[in-house]
Amino acid sequence: MAMIIDGKAISAQIKDEVKEAVAKMADEGRTVTLAVVLVGDDPASHVYVRNKKRACEYTGIRSLSYELPGTTTQDELLALIGELNRRADVDGILVQLPLPQHMNEDEVIKAIDPDKDVDGFHPYNVGRLSIGQEGFVSCTPAGIIQLLKRSGIEMEGKECVIVGRSNIVGKPMAMLMLRENATVTVCHSKTADLKEVCRRADILICAIGRAKFFTKDYIKAGAAVIDVGMDRDENNKLCGDVDFDDVFENAGAITPVPGGVGPMTIAMLMHNCVAAAKMKDEK
Ligand code: NAP
Repeated sequence: MAMIIDGKAISAQIKDEVKEAVAKMADEGRTVTLAVVLVGDDPASHVYVRNKKRACEYTGIRSLSYELPGTTTQDELLALIGELNRRADVDGILVQLPLPQHMNEDEVIKAIDPDKDVDGFHPYNVGRLSIGQEGFVSCTPAGIIQLLKRSGIEMEGKECVIVGRSNIVGKPMAMLMLRENATVTVCHSKTADLKEVCRRADILICAIGRAKFFTKDYIKAGAAVIDVGMDRDENNKLCGDVDFDDVFENAGAITPVPGGVGPMTIAMLMHNCVAAAKMKDEK
């Protein structure tokens, strides 16, 4: 029977650590500030932004909210980012993705000052991660490392298989696992014998966006299974990429959905805001 990795509890712990750090900085007269930019009226994005603002309130981080209409031009958005880059009182900038179709996300991400890129999506930070230098790391993979560390799951020397190679999850996850001295394999939709490869994993990270795709035939007995997926099952209920009930007996540890990886993303965003503020003060 698998140990359940409690992402809710671990994320709460991290948010409390952030809250303490923010309070300490406030005592010294320093306010940590995150600017959150949302363009358009995508309902899911509104929910994500609301949750991020709530986490700011909880941790004591000041959040500045910019909600722009879907008709905003890319130049107008770039002008706002330029202004936020220049503002000395802004530590972190978050532009909620996806952006409306008429905008080029790569260009927008590139416009954010890398030192304020608390999402870790700027090519400069992606590059730093891949050459093993300090920088901002995409929040979901960074959160997974914390889940494993804080659950006492050893990474060094272990076989880690990551399924999914997106820029925000799979690829940075691979870099972070290498940093932790795991032996890393990255799989994708063209991988031959996916089941065989997954069955080699001591740590299996599933990030493909297919509801309950990973059944027990994909899992080595005792493996730690990290489910990044946020999918809907046949009853429209939130579920992950892993068939939790099927895998539970066989795995050594597993993250549930909801309550596993999901809450970690925002906790790591809060953590990155404090890191951005401290980095700015040290410069
Ligand atoms: P994405 O950009 O759509 O990438 C999916 C990846 O999975 C691609 O690399 C794709 O391969 C691979 N893939 C798709 N079907 C596959 C299959 N049958 N076998 C093997 N590989 C397959 O997805 P993403 O943004 O990384 O997100 C993945 C999942 O994580 C989604 O459910 C998303 O909602 C969730 N997510 C959760 C959080 C969180 O905070 N919990 C954060 C981000 C994402 P190719 O490259 O060959 O196409």
